[in-house]
Amino acid sequence: MNRRNFILNSALVSAGAFLPLSLFGKSKRLSNFTEIRRNVGMYTERGGTIGWLLNDDALVAVDSQYPANAANFIAGMKERTTRGMDYLINSHHHGDHTAGNSAFKDYTAHIIAHENVPGYQKTAAEQRGQETVDAQVYADLTYSEKWSEEVGDEKVHLTYYGRAHTGGDSVIFFENANVAHMGDLVFNRAFPFIDPGAGAHMRNWVEVLRKTATELPTDAIYIFGHANPRFGVTGSKGDVLRNSDFLEAAISHTEKGIAKGMSKEEIAATEVLPGFEEFQFEGWFLGLDFVLNTAYEELTAG
Ligand SMILES: [Zn+2]
Repeated sequence: MNRRNFILNSALVSAGAFLPLSLFGKSKRLSNFTEIRRNVGMYTERGGTIGWLLNDDALVAVDSQYPANAANFIAGMKERTTRGMDYLINSHHHGDHTAGNSAFKDYTAHIIAHENVPGYQKTAAEQRGQETVDAQVYADLTYSEKWSEEVGDEKVHLTYYGRAHTGGDSVIFFENANVAHMGDLVFNRAFPFIDPGAGAHMRNWVEVLRKTATELPTDAIYIFGHANPRFGVTGSKGDVLRNSDFLEAAISHTEKGIAKGMSKEEIAATEVLPGFEEFQFEGWFLGLDFVLNTAYEELTAG
């Protein structure tokens, strides 16, 4: 996602305020920092959910939100450890996951992303103007299919399963914690943003989610980039599959409309996708029409 006013990312966010040390530890309710399992946690403020790993020998983050939020995250981390960061991982190129890279520049040894990310990031920045272009900080390490690294007593794996939300989405899996950060591969029970201009492919996205859910352990905990607050930014294999079922249903609904000779506008006017009512909620910036229009364009493209 790359819209600026994007704050509905977590049921855990209190008022977007940064809460310092006193609430950094055990509190699950008020702190922007939440530990999930075995030294892996998340940070929610504004933009895509940040994931983190902190153990005795390594510090890793996944995604960087916006510069001000990234600075808050780093300040919070500095209260907890004197370590510098080993890796900042960008799950994909969208601004609400990479704009904060600038704040990490002197804090992290490396920024790593899928090999398509820097190119998409540059193109997206160019569309917003010179000021945005100048503000970009890009990954210095990239990979094409899989990248794994020991980080203290943890092992982190980055996997590219193919085109989905964009053409450069990584699944980030912390093996020992058994926690996966999905970036925007999952908008948990919210109409997803889809970016065909940067390689997105809905049909393939369904397969990417099914493959991930099959390959990772059944009891893995997943972190999602964004969510319907009623469902939250963490979940299970069942949540991942629910979101792939939604994408598949949207494609199939569009396909049936095309077969009946319906126009793009007629299909996009569908108010509810039967069986997926929970994806609709107050305050979300995208409607079902966006998803169906995108499906129509994909299905009718050359
Ligand atoms: Zn995104």
